[in-house]
Amino acid sequence: MSTRFDWIQQELSSLKEAGLYNRIRTISSAQGAWLVVDGKRVLNFCSNNYLGLANHPQLVAAAREIVERYGVGPAAVRSIAGTMDLHLELERRLAKFKGVEAAITFQSGFAANLATIPALVGKEDVIFSDELNHASIIDGCRLSGGRIARYAHNDVADLERVIKENEGTYRRALIITDGVFSMDGDIAPLDKICEVANAHDILLMVDDAHGEGVIGRGGRGIVDHFGLHGKVDVEVGTLSKAFGVVGGVVAGNATIIEWLRQRARPFLFSSAVTPPDVAACLAAVDVLENSTELVDRLWENARYFKAEMKRLGFNTGVSETPITPVMLGEAPLAQSFSRELFEENVFAMPLGFPTVPRGKARIRVMISAAHSRDDLDQGLAAFAKVGKQLGVIA
Ligand SMILES: *Cc1c(COP(=O)(O)O)cnc(C)c1O
Repeated sequence: MSTRFDWIQQELSSLKEAGLYNRIRTISSAQGAWLVVDGKRVLNFCSNNYLGLANHPQLVAAAREIVERYGVGPAAVRSIAGTMDLHLELERRLAKFKGVEAAITFQSGFAANLATIPALVGKEDVIFSDELNHASIIDGCRLSGGRIARYAHNDVADLERVIKENEGTYRRALIITDGVFSMDGDIAPLDKICEVANAHDILLMVDDAHGEGVIGRGGRGIVDHFGLHGKVDVEVGTLSKAFGVVGGVVAGNATIIEWLRQRARPFLFSSAVTPPDVAACLAAVDVLENSTELVDRLWENARYFKAEMKRLGFNTGVSETPITPVMLGEAPLAQSFSRELFEENVFAMPLGFPTVPRGKARIRVMISAAHSRDDLDQGLAAFAKVGKQLGVIA
């Protein structure tokens, strides 16, 4: 008998047949270099905990202390009764850390994009968007109602071409790019994009979710990496990756930040981030401001791991960051590779369509400052064994 859910069952079956069905594993330990996953202790190669802050004693202590004083819930949206002194302190500290005029925080990086893009552009406007931009940017663009004009990935000449093509057809325009692209680990040519934005007097926004806490001096992000202070209008970041907690941040021009406090819908209509989360984020800023030790260790680990993977004969793509894609081609191969690694006590996720283009499936290794040299060597040994077993390397 047919039911109104039949089509969903059929879609789910075809995902399974194509090797694209997401089998979600369960973590039952604290975050760190090693995790208990589906009951088994494994080396963690797939979280965004770049600096090991997710379970850092200083962040944990800050969260615990504020729970005692402020409790656990925000109880309101920011614009009604949800703005605590803590939220404002975090925004001031983040602005100072990043060397910008002002900052505003959101519940997540995803929310930050949904908040910001529709506040800056509307139906009569155009958005010039890198073709590989993150899903939250794409959704923010769609939500704005603006016309989306995509340009070829990291291709400044194509951006110029698309801008010329659209000249005279819009009221306002916005250029948006990821800072670090999460699937390949490559970095947007923000210096050149910034020149184009200036030449055409177009607003420029960068989403630096994977660059925050990773690139730039002491992890100050992509604007610092290129020395573009004061030249990029809007810098979106996340507090959920290198910062080790949860939340989003928009940093940059003070006028834009003031406007977002009036118009950003997730700020006005969704509850504030909880006190312990904010306190932990503040402690993360302290850790980053006090020392570059964790950022330095992250890069040391990444350089070592990538060099060894290349030596073994793996194709690690075009990454310029600690994100290390291991290119495998077809999704079923990436899935079996990941399964075999798990047998070897290594947890590394396969990525296939639609997360990455068809035929470009891969295992993505996320290196962290939390890994010891010994951890990395264990991971490399497992990759070597499984790579030979599956005929990926000789
Ligand atoms: C992860 C990511 C986000 C989402 O950040 P959350 O804080 O996890 O919501 C947004 N943009 C980019 C580019 C990302 O990589």
